[in-house]
Amino acid sequence: MSVARKPSPPETTPTPTPTRRGPRVEKTGKAKPSKPSPLARLGLQSDWDIALHLPLRYEDETRLTPLDALRDGATATTEAKVIDAQVQGRAPRRQLLVRLHDADLPQEGLTLRLFHFYPNQLKLLQPGVRLRAHGQVRQGLFGWEMVHPNWRVVEAAEPLPQALTPVYPSTAGVPQSYLRKAVHSALNRLNWVDTVPQAELTRHHLPDLQASVRLLHAPPASALQALQDGTHPAQRRLKFDELLAQQLAQQQARAARQRWKAPPMPDSGAAQALPTLLRAAIPFSLTVAQERCVAEIAADLALPVPMHRLLQGDVGSGKTVVAALAAAQAIAAGWQCALMAPTEILAAQHARKLADWLEPLGVRVAWLSGSQTKKERDVALQCAASGQAQLILGTHAVIQAQVRFARLGLAIVDEQHRFGVAQRLALRDSLRAGTQASGLQPHLLMMSATPIPRTLAMALFGDLDVSTIDALPPGRTPVRTTVISADKRDELIARVTALMAQGRQAYWVCPLVDESEELDLQNAIAVHAELSAVGQQSGSVRPVGLLHGRMKAADKRAVMQAFTAGEMGLLVATTVIEVGVDVPNASLMVIEHAERFGLSQLHQLRGRVGRGTAQSDCVLLFTSPLSPTARERLAAMRELADGFALAQKDLELRGPGELLGLRQSGVPGLRYADLAQDADLLEAARDTAQRLLHANPESARLHAARWLGEGFDWLSA
Ligand code: ADP
Ligand code: MG
Repeated sequence: MSVARKPSPPETTPTPTPTRRGPRVEKTGKAKPSKPSPLARLGLQSDWDIALHLPLRYEDETRLTPLDALRDGATATTEAKVIDAQVQGRAPRRQLLVRLHDADLPQEGLTLRLFHFYPNQLKLLQPGVRLRAHGQVRQGLFGWEMVHPNWRVVEAAEPLPQALTPVYPSTAGVPQSYLRKAVHSALNRLNWVDTVPQAELTRHHLPDLQASVRLLHAPPASALQALQDGTHPAQRRLKFDELLAQQLAQQQARAARQRWKAPPMPDSGAAQALPTLLRAAIPFSLTVAQERCVAEIAADLALPVPMHRLLQGDVGSGKTVVAALAAAQAIAAGWQCALMAPTEILAAQHARKLADWLEPLGVRVAWLSGSQTKKERDVALQCAASGQAQLILGTHAVIQAQVRFARLGLAIVDEQHRFGVAQRLALRDSLRAGTQASGLQPHLLMMSATPIPRTLAMALFGDLDVSTIDALPPGRTPVRTTVISADKRDELIARVTALMAQGRQAYWVCPLVDESEELDLQNAIAVHAELSAVGQQSGSVRPVGLLHGRMKAADKRAVMQAFTAGEMGLLVATTVIEVGVDVPNASLMVIEHAERFGLSQLHQLRGRVGRGTAQSDCVLLFTSPLSPTARERLAAMRELADGFALAQKDLELRGPGELLGLRQSGVPGLRYADLAQDADLLEAARDTAQRLLHANPESARLHAARWLGEGFDWLSA
């Protein structure tokens, strides 16, 4: 049998998995930049890596379709004999046209258009030679055509493959045929010891590992639909194994943390004086949900092991006061508390609110920001380092990079979902370094306003305890959401201007133009000019404000202050107001080009209104045509008020990476499991991980080593 399979077009992966181990080092001690092997370029080092390099998709070459049964647009495998083959055109548009026919079907013909071919392939294509071709069929000018098909020379009645043909993720210059061979030999070399005990497999109805992996590389045609849906038992087995490794790592990390020491902060007796005073000073009483979270945190802080807790609650659910009570408990016990916010605006607002609550009770506050003078900052840094300041407030960047604490006992990180896994680890390290003097780890409280669905929280932060504020404070009227076409923008501007004249306050959020901050900014400036002009024409006395990321922090603060004080009716802003801004009197939010925003972002923005008792509105302006996903997003915004329901929807529409802004940092290890689809497997993996760690630690270790690498560092998982 002569084989002339053309080099298949490489299927490229966007980002090949980075290699875990470092570059090979020559004896001289210098790393030599030798040309990496094709497998290394795909990040595949061990046989196990290769075995887990699963096909992106499959081609069904198990059935032949006669020429007269071809259908326009369908993908098919067919056989016919060469009439002639000729090269047409010039490089780089040169193509080889191979005309085929079937003597039994004289009416039918098929032409293959090939773009990549070698002279020796041309020689094979003699009249009368039989070809098998696989590709998408289309109706050409002179009968059926296949552009760029897979093809090879075959004998008459040559058997068809029994299995589907795998198509692997690859990169330029690594042909599919090479990968198929590499996989084939890796599968035969592997030690197939199953690291998951049979009892666990039976419990969760999962098939054998070797059989599953082999099937995924060469499945029967009957499996195609299930494979495409991601529901085939073999796929479920691999997803389970992957999730199990991740759950093992997280449970192990949690166990390791139990061995670290943190300052215990009593939550009763004399230590309660400050929290009690704070409660008395707050102009409202806490909701049941807030009380529950406060109690959970207080109990953690009282223990001599570091708290590692996520406080999540929808925008406006009242996380700040819960954080303030935790801070009071730490300070009462004689420890410092640091509160870190992602943006200057938010840090400033926290600073003001917490300082307003705690300073009158005698707490000494230091404030750190990127925009203060060196002298101011030096004083603040000195207060943190000497222990004179009890509460240190600032942006993440500043606190992480510069501050050394005398006695840091509690670190509170706001809007932690904006930070990737890597950043969380860096934070932990820098806090540890900042408190070396005490030899203790600070307690860590992270807060997130992006409610994370339970499945996702478990997968991502399985090593975190989670407290959830699941109800909004009383007296809130739900925000009314209207979706309107940009055709009606002028009418909307007229209405908004009229409302401003009645004393209402509104945000007008400018479209996200693209990734470029520059364009977003230009847009905001143009919209600001437009709305200012309309305002003046209508005789409005209050100026229209403008807020964007490029402004100096002091200017931003000044604008926010003017808006909070009601000196401005309308605030035109880029998405800098997305997080945490709290102006209860603002009751209208307009979002331009709402179709360009993600669901969680829209929800965050909408959460800026509806904080007072007045009926609030959110207007989503969209420009047609809407993609199906954008249409679903806007509909979800109109129908759903609950952040958790929206987050779940977001997960379905976008996939988990984007939801959490984790695209750059990556969810470690999750290549196969889909958190929206595989929640049941995640539960199963968690359950098995618990049992293995207790009853079968050797299996647990082997499993983690297989999936995460021998050198995997349990502690920094
Ligand atoms: P977020 O969870 O988004 O950080 P905030 O802590 O900023 O929410 O609280 C939103 C608003 O609700 C603030 O003005 C806050 O003072 C107010 N608030 C918080 N808890 C209560 C409560 N139990 N009753 C009434 N108002 C509350
Ligand atoms: Mg907040």
